[in-house]
Amino acid sequence: MSDCLFCKMASGEIQPDVVYEDDEILAFRDINPQAPVHVLIIPKTHIATLNDLQPEQAPLVGRLFLAAKQIAAEEGIAERGYRTVFNCNAEAGQAVFHLHMHLLGGRPLGWPPG
Ligand code: AMP
Ligand code: ZN
Repeated sequence: MSDCLFCKMASGEIQPDVVYEDDEILAFRDINPQAPVHVLIIPKTHIATLNDLQPEQAPLVGRLFLAAKQIAAEEGIAERGYRTVFNCNAEAGQAVFHLHMHLLGGRPLGWPPG
């Protein structure tokens, strides 16, 4: 999608602080980090929200989690603990309408979220 910020990152038009990339996935540091480790992991294909996910895209979501696991290990938070979050639509605070997983860690994370 031409006017989507994360599509522009996936295509290389905008260059974020990348921590992982493969043919289908890009992961980069959040510009406004909420924890010492705050990485966004996105599919390169445009999916607006979790509500738009299709059954045939299930393996892609699995790969997002495998990337999160690898990045958590590389960032040194795998054993301490971390959180993965997808915000969907207004009440969850979704601001960028291109599916993304937040990977958060490096400090104690409160539960339940506010
Ligand atoms: P959400 O509220 O779940 O849609 O999360 C969107 C996230 O994108 C927020 O945590 C923002 O800080 C982050 N974000 C917005 N613009 C950028 C950018 N240019 N580079 C990196 N992260 C961004
Ligand atoms: Zn997009």
